[in-house]
Amino acid sequence: MNNMREVEVVVVGAGQAGLSSAYHLRRTGFEPDRDFVVLDHSPGPGGAWQFRWPSLTYGKVHGMHALPGMELVGADPARASSEVISDYFDRYEQRFDLRVRRPVDVRTVREGPDGRLLVETPDGSWAARALISATGTWDRPFWPRYPGQETFRGRQLHTARYPGPEAFAGQRVVVVGGGASGTQHLLEIAPYAAATTWVTRRPPVFREGPFDEEAGRAAVALVEERVRQGLPPRSVVSVTGLPLNDAIREGLANGVLDRQPMFDRITPDGVEWTRRSPLPEHGREPGGRRRVAADVILWATGFRPAVDHLAPLRLRESGGGVRVDGTRAVADPRVHLVGYGPSASTIGANRAGRAAVRDIRRLLAREEPAAA
Ligand SMILES: Cc1cc2nc3c(=O)[nH]c(=O)nc-3n(C[C@H](O)[C@H](O)[C@H](O)COP(=O)(O)OP(=O)(O)OC[C@H]3O[C@@H](n4cnc5c(N)ncnc54)[C@H](O)[C@@H]3O)c2cc1C
Repeated sequence: MNNMREVEVVVVGAGQAGLSSAYHLRRTGFEPDRDFVVLDHSPGPGGAWQFRWPSLTYGKVHGMHALPGMELVGADPARASSEVISDYFDRYEQRFDLRVRRPVDVRTVREGPDGRLLVETPDGSWAARALISATGTWDRPFWPRYPGQETFRGRQLHTARYPGPEAFAGQRVVVVGGGASGTQHLLEIAPYAAATTWVTRRPPVFREGPFDEEAGRAAVALVEERVRQGLPPRSVVSVTGLPLNDAIREGLANGVLDRQPMFDRITPDGVEWTRRSPLPEHGREPGGRRRVAADVILWATGFRPAVDHLAPLRLRESGGGVRVDGTRAVADPRVHLVGYGPSASTIGANRAGRAAVRDIRRLLAREEPAAA
């Protein structure tokens, strides 16, 4: 094949998970370009952080762990996290000479020559003995479907395109979703909007007190069990609950976080609950229906793992997820998913990068250095 290069390992994605993996490869003797390459289809450093909305300041980001080997110090909490983290990742890539190639879009990974994996991109192919897929979730926003959705005359958008609260000035906004993004959007938008309504499928669970290490381990174990069974991973909030911080307390007290059950249908002018559903407490019409007029529906309904490029390898189980043991795909030991399921957090991604490299070294029969 034309323009096919051979390397030991291809890392797809240069977010926290991909950079952590690249760091551990480098640290254990793999040379960039000769032994491994990191491919990323985004325009600049920062992983998904580069796309996050300007009002998500660094001070609002909780529990962001630094990448291995280089702390993130002295960041201004009032600065946009997209800028702070993109700058930090940029410095990190240079400091460890990781030579990320971008923008390079990995379209497919398939069986290649001599037991290698063929990683195909518009910029040519790489034949690798192992693959670290660290593609995150940002590229696959999840939009649920509801009857009447296509008839809505207002604007619908997903968290992935949230522009910040000013864009909703004077508008009636329905926010869908019970995660951290949904609550943050509501708290930000409410002072600008003419009205806000919050709907979630399940009643949100608020978590009192600090999220200690034991609770963290328990949450990770729950997601781990799902991916071990080949089920799609669940979001972190679905297992940890929403932290009851001061902003949330205030939102609950002043009614901004007055959660309503999920509506049944979308109409041209808003959303509607029918008689059969558990109706919101207030505002019922005599027939038992309830409507809320809306100019905007904001879907804060999460993301799914971006693993379509792996489709030719047929790693998905009938349950819809990729079964992994640690980070290794059970169906193909050459493939590691880092930042997937239980490692989909900044600390999880750090650890998973290290674990994947350790495993790949064994697969490629490279010695583990004594200090590792
Ligand atoms: C709004 C929001 C706030 C969050 N806040 C926190 C927090 O405070 N603390 C925390 O621990 N976690 C937080 N998380 C989760 C956290 O962002 C992730 O767990 C972690 O940063 C994800 O890193 P990643 O490397 O797995 O993915 P990403 O950062 O998404 O990186 C994936 C990279 O892969 C690239 N890519 C994808 N597909 C391809 C392809 N086919 N070809 C080439 N490149 C590709 C993308 O361009 C991207 O650069 C938050 C998530 C969201 C959505």
